[in-house]
Order: sequence, then structure tokens, then C-alpha cells
Amino acid sequence: MRRLAKAIDGLDAPAVEKIARDQHEDPFQVLIATMLSAQTKDAVTAAASERLFSVARTPRTMLKLDVKQIEGLIYPASFYRNKAVHVTQTCEQIMTRFGGRVPSTMEELLTLPGVGRKTANLVLILAHGSASNICVDTHVHRISNRLGWVSTRTPDETEHALYVASQKKWWPFINLYLVTWGQTICRPVYPLCPACVLADLCPKTGVERMGKPR
Ligand code: SF4
Repeated sequence: MRRLAKAIDGLDAPAVEKIARDQHEDPFQVLIATMLSAQTKDAVTAAASERLFSVARTPRTMLKLDVKQIEGLIYPASFYRNKAVHVTQTCEQIMTRFGGRVPSTMEELLTLPGVGRKTANLVLILAHGSASNICVDTHVHRISNRLGWVSTRTPDETEHALYVASQKKWWPFINLYLVTWGQTICRPVYPLCPACVLADLCPKTGVERMGKPR
């Protein structure tokens, strides 16, 4: 983790991390941007979030938009139709059940439509300052297994295994470090192992072909 901390310095941070920093860790914008980011490229998430937040930055103002308007603003995010419905339903729940505030516990966050553990963990870390959560997305799942930190089949299994396999001081940073590394070096296909700062430590579990650094 120390090597990764140095190596990612200066690389582009993931879209939701940037939104969280730019918006002073606003829980609502972190929540919605994370919902939009599922299976969507970072550049698309950033642009979709910017368009949506330029029109509505709170659950109250978001509810003045209809689902079609939200669809139009977040297109071409993957599953934009489902995501638009979930954004509207989540805003309704935040207003009716949580007094207009994004909840700050895992149990409550998981009751919101379209919110799974990945989204809930990221909101808890980036917007509520939690040091007790690990957010596992596809990059964290893949790289933790390649590195031999865990041996798991699903992101949920990886999250639970990482609580055992890693030191607590790193938990809030695992997502930032591994997602940044996964977007640049430890890519899903043809990872750039010869250019990786972890190459001498990494068993490269499951890596069949490596890419060539330019
Ligand atoms: S050595 Fe290769 S497989 Fe291991 S973390 Fe680096 S890029 Fe990924």
C-alpha cells in the first residue's frame, strides 16, 4: 500500500473521488455519482454527474425533475433508464424517511433503491469519514486476487476477506489506490506487470497475458 500511495501520486483519481473532493464530501452528490458510476467509464460518470448536478444538487430539487429528464441528463451512462428510476426513488426515500439527509449507516443505506454494498461503503468513506469500511468494486476485487491478498469469487467475498487480510489503517484508501492502479497499470486485460511497482511482490494470480508498457 505504501508503494501504491507513491505510485498513484499524480495519476488521475477515480471520478467519484474527484466529485467528493470538489463538492466538499457532500453525501448526496457522492451517493448519486456512485450510483451513476456502476459499470460506466469514469469520463462518462464525470460528465453525467456534472450535467445532472448543474440542474439539481439536492434531493428536493432532484424531485422536481421527472425520470425522463434525469435519463436525458445522465445518458450515456450504462443502464441510464434504471439508474434514473433509482435516483428518483432514492430521493423520495431520503425526503420521506430520512428528513432530506443521506443516511450514515450501512443498514439504512442498503434500504435505498439501487444502493448495494459498494455504493454504501463509498458513501460512508468519502462523505461520512468512515475509517471502518472497505469499498470493493471490480478493480479492487480483481487486483486483490491477483496480488494474492485474497482468494475469492465475488466482490462481496473480497470485501469480507480484506477486513481480515489488510491493516485497518489502509481500509479507507484501498478503493482509491486499487481503482487508480486498475485504470492505468493493473488493467482487466493485458496488465502492465513489467511497469508495476508491485511486480516483485505479486504472484500475478490468474494473469495469463501481460501488456507491454510504451
Ligand atoms: S504485478 Fe501485474 S498483476 Fe500484480 S499488481 Fe502489478 S500489474 Fe497487477
